[in-house]
This record gives sequence, structure tokens and C-alpha cells, in this order.
Amino acid sequence: MDAVDVHSHFFPDEFVRLIRSHGAPAGASVDRRDGVEWLTLPGHPPVPLTPQFTTVASRRARLQELGIAAQALSLSPPMVHWAPAELGVQLARAFNDGILEIQASFPDQFVGLATLPLQDIDAALREMDRAVDLGMRGIYVATAVGGRYLDAPQFAPLWEAAASRSTPVFIHPQNHIGREVMDRWHLFNTVGFPVETAVLATRLIFSGTLDRHPSLRIVLAHGGGVLPVLAGRLDHAYRQRAEVRDAIAAPPSTYIKRFYFDTVTHHDLALRLLLDLVGPQQIVLGTDTPYDMADPEPLARIRRLGLAPPAAAALLGESARKLLHWEVTHATREG
Ligand SMILES: [Zn+2]
Repeated sequence: MDAVDVHSHFFPDEFVRLIRSHGAPAGASVDRRDGVEWLTLPGHPPVPLTPQFTTVASRRARLQELGIAAQALSLSPPMVHWAPAELGVQLARAFNDGILEIQASFPDQFVGLATLPLQDIDAALREMDRAVDLGMRGIYVATAVGGRYLDAPQFAPLWEAAASRSTPVFIHPQNHIGREVMDRWHLFNTVGFPVETAVLATRLIFSGTLDRHPSLRIVLAHGGGVLPVLAGRLDHAYRQRAEVRDAIAAPPSTYIKRFYFDTVTHHDLALRLLLDLVGPQQIVLGTDTPYDMADPEPLARIRRLGLAPPAAAALLGESARKLLHWEVTHATREG
């Protein structure tokens, strides 16, 4: 079985070193408490830098436990958008270069999704070109940067570049709206993240971004958040409201089916709904490794869907490999 995980998080040494040496003025730090190093970035709870987050050997062992052959590595919220632009550029390069080294060492097991300093769009486009030219397989963006969702005109060149380069875009939520009411009980993550993803996805639909770039390939984290369950409501609004019809040429659900969705739903029925809504070709395996919110049984959940073998193969790995331009090599087949 060739399972490919598109949703995981990793902190290369270079990135952590740069936070340690240059993060403090911007409110970022790495400090040791109770025998564990903690990474603290503005606007996000501290993350324990366990070997799962920082060492390839530990990650490879975990993949073996999970039965997953290969994985795309990404940064995490809050990305590098909290930093002054110059530091953001340095951090993005440090992350991307660190991941490229891993990709070069284990080309059958890991590929990287590039982080971009989107607080400076010109620098972000330069870093995208550099990282993709060096072999990174996609870009990895938050839902909003500096309070602006990525459908804002200032980000138009990003979508243009991704479409023209055939570079997939992975959207990971970063809680922006309603922060003031999601400050307890991990709500920023459990409620904020799924809403945030749906906000950007619908804004990309209604802003015409998907119409302008029919070849864009976008993956939504966490099964698209609450987007799938909103499909009927959005279509109803399309039938009832002139301003919705004026914005786009077809019902919103038509556009929803163009997104890819990962499997990180934590609920068999939620994944079943997604499957019925968009079909197995638009769903790709995700784990969210190694956060505590990762799916502890990603493959078992897929097996319980009872898919026919071709659909299961697409969902487990084939669609992800096509998205990432990642051929199956002999070594991977044997492994
Ligand atoms: Zn994640």
C-alpha cells in the first residue's frame, strides 16, 4: 500500500536556530522548561520541540508505525507572518532550505511544501520561485496574513504564479476571526480553524479567484473545516440572493468540488459526507502529525469507508502523488 500523507508539520534545525538567535524582538523564543524545549511564536500556544517535530529519524519511525510510505513536510501556524518582513524572508529560507536537505536525503519518503513570507508579496514570489526551482513540490499558506484573507487583491500575484507554475497550494487555517471569543478551551483550534478554512475557501470562490485560474489546485486542511456541511446553504443562497449569483457563474458547490480536501476530520461520518460531496479523487490522506490534534488512526478511518480498491488507492496516495508531481519509484514500491 502506498499511503502518502499531505498534512504534517516539521521544524528544521536552521529554522529553530534562527528563532533562538533573532526571534526575541518580535516576541518569538525557544526556551527550556521541565527538560523540554518550547517554541513560542506570536499568536500561537507554545509547541514542545519533541523529536517528532525536529528529527528525521523520529519522524521516519512514526511513519512506519502509522503504515505511511511518504509524507509532505510543512511549517505550522503562525507560519512566518508575525515577523518583520526581513526576518520573515530569512525564516522562510531557513525552513525551505532545511526541508530541501531532508528531501534530498530521503527523496522517496519526504517532499517539502514551501513557506512564503507573505507579509511582503514580492519577496514571497521570489521565495516561491527559488524554493520550487530547488525542488519543493507546493506552497503552504495560511488563511489570512496581516488581517487580510488571501483573496485580497494584494495576493492576486500569488494565485497567478501558482496557476502558471502548476504548483499546488495547501491552505492551513490560522485563527484570525473571533480570536477574542476563542481564547479558552482550545477553541481557536477546534472551532476557529474549521471556520477559518471555510471563510477563505468561500472568499476564493466568490471573489472569482477560482474562475480566473481554472487550473489552480488547492488543498484544504482538516477536511475543509466546516465547508462541506455549508455546501447546501451556500447553494440555497445562490438561488435566493442576487448578489451571490452576480459574483459567480455556477452554484458554489460546483466550485467546492474543485478543491482537494485532506482526511483530518476526526469523525467517520464527517469523512463520509466529504466523500459523498466531492468524490474520492478530491480527497487526500492527511495526519496533522505530530501535533496533539493529529489523527491517531488515519488509515483505519479510511479502511472503514469501505471504498473499492481504485478509489481507496486514489485517496490513500495516487491523488497526492499527482498533486505533488511525485513519482512512485522502485524503492518506494519495495519499501
Ligand atoms: Zn496542521
